Amino acid sequence: AKTIGIIGGGQLGRMLAMAAARLNFRTIILEPQADCPAAQVANDQIVAAYDDPAALAELAKRCDLVTYEFENVPVAATHKLAEDIAVYPPPKALEIAQDRLTEKRFINDCGILTARFHAVDSQTDLDAALADFGGQGVLKTRRLGYDGKGQRVYRSSADSAEGSYAALGGVPLILESFVAFEREISIIAARGLDGSVACYDPAENIHRNGILHTSTLPANISAETAAAARVAAEKILAALGYVGVIGIEFFALSDGSLIANEMAPRVHNSGHWTEAACVVSQFEQHIRAVTGLPLGNPVRHSDCVMQNLIGDDIHSVAEWLREDDVLVHLYGKTESRPGRKMGHITQLRR
Ligand code: ATP
Ligand code: MG
Ligand code: MG
Repeated sequence: AKTIGIIGGGQLGRMLAMAAARLNFRTIILEPQADCPAAQVANDQIVAAYDDPAALAELAKRCDLVTYEFENVPVAATHKLAEDIAVYPPPKALEIAQDRLTEKRFINDCGILTARFHAVDSQTDLDAALADFGGQGVLKTRRLGYDGKGQRVYRSSADSAEGSYAALGGVPLILESFVAFEREISIIAARGLDGSVACYDPAENIHRNGILHTSTLPANISAETAAAARVAAEKILAALGYVGVIGIEFFALSDGSLIANEMAPRVHNSGHWTEAACVVSQFEQHIRAVTGLPLGNPVRHSDCVMQNLIGDDIHSVAEWLREDDVLVHLYGKTESRPGRKMGHITQLRR
């Protein structure tokens, strides 16, 4: 059997390993934390830093191809691996998505709208950028932000930006114009080794405390808006020569137009519903794509709502298990902490 290396040992790696096993692939996880969620279900784990040269050499030697489950994999590690072995999605996608500035420029170059933005490398830059946006905007670290961390929102010119540059760590930032969106949607799309593309229907996403709370299918958007999300995804996948699953987030405006927010070159939390409502989940789709198998049909057989179980939400599992038409998925994390993703449920609506 072929062996797939997975860089990263979180729940996304765990779900990829489960999907891979079902298609007779072996998996080896590279993750410094022992007994991580992914290693609990994979065939083996290499316990080492993601950029450890010996570990990368071992991974290349023992695997037939390598993929990854989080977007902050050191790009240099993927380039090193790519000298010896296929790495999907392409390291270029990882590199672009790791920096919100290069990401937005790339998305614009694909002919897709984003919020307006300015690079911010000092307090002076920030003051000028905010003035350009009439005192409104969302300030974000260019790198390493997730779940809304490393962000600051300015609602009006009454919100003082004094000291904000230093408060966000004195690192490179981006100020985005504030998008008064009607709703947030995301699309999960896949591109195979042969260039074929499959897109799941867009999900409508609601966040709580900066963390994804629910993804609902169908999204409350027109067929035209859904088609626009698909077209945008196809452009991005083609431009990257992409192989694998990608998640792309959009803001939908009241006129039905879309503004792209960000992309994740991996399986995506807002695609977890696919394991309950589609024959082929995003996880299997990713495994199919990177191993050169035919992509699965992305059509949904049921409407549904996926809800994340965050921190103490985990205590509601017993109740969810009593419900009909609810798929419960837990990540094997023993310790629950506020904001920590412990599992998710998907409730079919039929
Ligand atoms: P994720 O966990 O999805 O990776 P993240 O930390 O990378 O999140 P973003 O998705 O960029 O951050 O932003 C988090 C949320 O903040 C968005 O889902 C949206 O609700 C809000 N937001 C972000 N950018 C803007 C903007 N320019 N205008 C208005 N709201 C925004
Ligand atoms: Mg993000
Ligand atoms: Mg986001």
